[in-house]
Amino acid sequence: MERVGKWLGHPREIYNLLRFKMGGGTAVMPPRDQDALSDNLKTCYQYLNQTSRSFAPIIQALDGELRHAVCILYLVLRALDTVEDDMTISLETKVPMLHDFHSYLYQPDWRYMESKEKYKQVLEDFPTISLEFRNLAKVYRDVIAAICHKMGAGMAEFLQKKVESLQEWDKVWSRYAKKLSDLAKPENIDMAVQCMNELIINALHHIPNVLTYLSRLKTQSVFNFCAIPQVMAIATLAACYNNKQVFRGVVKIRKGQAVTLMMDATNIQAVKSIMYQYVEEIYRKIPSTDPSSNKTQQILVSIQTICFPNGTVVSCNRYAPIYLSCAMLLAALSWRYLSAMLEALEEDV
Ligand code: MG
Repeated sequence: MERVGKWLGHPREIYNLLRFKMGGGTAVMPPRDQDALSDNLKTCYQYLNQTSRSFAPIIQALDGELRHAVCILYLVLRALDTVEDDMTISLETKVPMLHDFHSYLYQPDWRYMESKEKYKQVLEDFPTISLEFRNLAKVYRDVIAAICHKMGAGMAEFLQKKVESLQEWDKVWSRYAKKLSDLAKPENIDMAVQCMNELIINALHHIPNVLTYLSRLKTQSVFNFCAIPQVMAIATLAACYNNKQVFRGVVKIRKGQAVTLMMDATNIQAVKSIMYQYVEEIYRKIPSTDPSSNKTQQILVSIQTICFPNGTVVSCNRYAPIYLSCAMLLAALSWRYLSAMLEALEEDV
């Protein structure tokens, strides 16, 4: 009954899950013909689908060669991240590996067989991925050289920004605890939640830049590719805000919510509307005990004003039609059947 109860509050999500399953998702993520691909590339797409549930469909929806390039780049970064995350690799081994990782792309036989991580196959079969990387690099040598040249300055700025961000984070958490690990202790959960809330509000400052970037994109598949992770991110931030469960387990957005966001975030107005609504959700969750609640409210309102300067929000059909609610009520009467169906739907998507 718990599963049905969870869904009853979100009838539109069930409708969208059904719509997605019955082909609604193909408008956003059209299926691609895999037959024309080389065996090597097919293997790479297989790894992509095994290692990423959320990025795999939007990468595969990209047009032409861009799709292959992003797929390979994703796998290279996934391999790098697998080394980073693997706590069974000693620091003496790990640090030089991370430093030298870029050179492994040009060593046809380099592979790593000692990882215990979930996605270790990308390290064990790295020769397949690096071969595709070198093939793409041959075709796009000039383009890649130009990007690398431009990236030189950009990367340095990004690195600087990252260092600044880390220092900024240090400043935030050190106001709540002497040591960062103190925040993981159950007795300090209130402080930990307040600290997390401040970091979430900090992250929202990037929304204007995100909107500016998205508004300049011209190709629909590229827009979807960029917009979908952003709306998933704001939905996740809203779910985490002032939520103690973050420190006790895993907080994720609902599958139906994810599918709804994927199908809605196809133009800049819809993205603004989604951002606006999740900022509003965070606003409603500001705890009355928060000492900086006034400041937090001001920040949230200013972000909403950036999304909609005139204050007119175009709703993304957030509220389900009345007939849908009635249908849900009827369905609830046979909740056993519905529960089984939802379980199957969640597994499929
Ligand atoms: Mg990592």
